[in-house]
Amino acid sequence: LQPRDFVKGRLHDWYSRSTVAAPPLVSRREFGYGNDVKIEARHVAFRDEREMNYFLRTTTPLFVSCSLAYYETPDGRPMDRKGWQGADLAFDFDAKDYETPCKHPPQLSCGVCMDRVKQECAKLVEEFLIPDFGFSLQEIGIVFSGNKGYHVYVRGERVHSLSGNARKELADYLDGTGLEPELLGLGFSGRAIAGPTPGDGGWRGRVARWISSSLSSAADEKALAKRLGVSLIISKKLIEHRGAVLEGIARGSWDQVAVGLKTWDRVFRLAAVDAALRLDKGCTIDVSRLLRLPGSIHGDSGLVAMPVRSLSQFDPFRDPVAFGNSVVPVVASQDASFTLAGEEFALRSGKRAELPEAAAVYAAAKKLVSEVG
Ligand SMILES: [Zn+2]
Repeated sequence: LQPRDFVKGRLHDWYSRSTVAAPPLVSRREFGYGNDVKIEARHVAFRDEREMNYFLRTTTPLFVSCSLAYYETPDGRPMDRKGWQGADLAFDFDAKDYETPCKHPPQLSCGVCMDRVKQECAKLVEEFLIPDFGFSLQEIGIVFSGNKGYHVYVRGERVHSLSGNARKELADYLDGTGLEPELLGLGFSGRAIAGPTPGDGGWRGRVARWISSSLSSAADEKALAKRLGVSLIISKKLIEHRGAVLEGIARGSWDQVAVGLKTWDRVFRLAAVDAALRLDKGCTIDVSRLLRLPGSIHGDSGLVAMPVRSLSQFDPFRDPVAFGNSVVPVVASQDASFTLAGEEFALRSGKRAELPEAAAVYAAAKKLVSEVG
């Protein structure tokens, strides 16, 4: 069997015995699907969950996506005939967007890069959505993307009518676009330098906390100079008077030692870049974006794009595994190793191997094998 036919067959089997939960307002969503590329066809609509599942069973696309938006006529085309009524707010995090020490082939992922994505995802929820925007955990949903990332959804009346422009402002806020130290409160107050305190809301507090914690946790002046992007002379001064500087920052007084406004300005910019969120802004801004259908299988991994209850406890190499243990012979097309469902696998290029079905689907979807069966 060709690897792709094998994957399609397994997906067909899985969709035949499973029911994918329809997204809210399913009849007003636009769907898209594809095999060679993620979206070959779009403007597809389903009346209800039954019709959606019938489609998945009979067509069995490798990739299926659903609109964040809901429309009067979701299958209308072109786009402006659909009658846009609103859209969920969504955030896309993918391992490819982060630097990690990973050495595996690019289509694979591992605990290290997936933890990095998780960390950014948690940062969005815990440091931005809840404290800065005032969303509640009930309004926020996290979904494993099915491959190498996570999607965060915010649903409900408070976000549905947000325009593309409003979403762009929101995304700019998250990644710190346009943040100026002056806007964060840094400047002269009389002859003294004043600035934000760690207890302040939003970016003001975030930057003050970043600098405070950098200063209090720095091992030595060299480490601090590197962290803050300042000279060793300044770093040495800050370390010598660490207690006083921290105590000053806690009150919004930024001139306990002779560090000038220009230097703080630079440090603030660096802090803002480091504390900012890294995400694919396109997904947040685009009000007609299609995103992986939660509950469907991702054709590049054979894993379920499943809703995540507890991000910290979610294991992306165990929890979304859809297939079982029956033995499947494969021929590897490249050297690769991966872990799935707690088991480690190592493939040698050109060599035959016997894999449990779940690992065979994963390897075939990841294009690590040339032949199955
Ligand atoms: Zn990795």
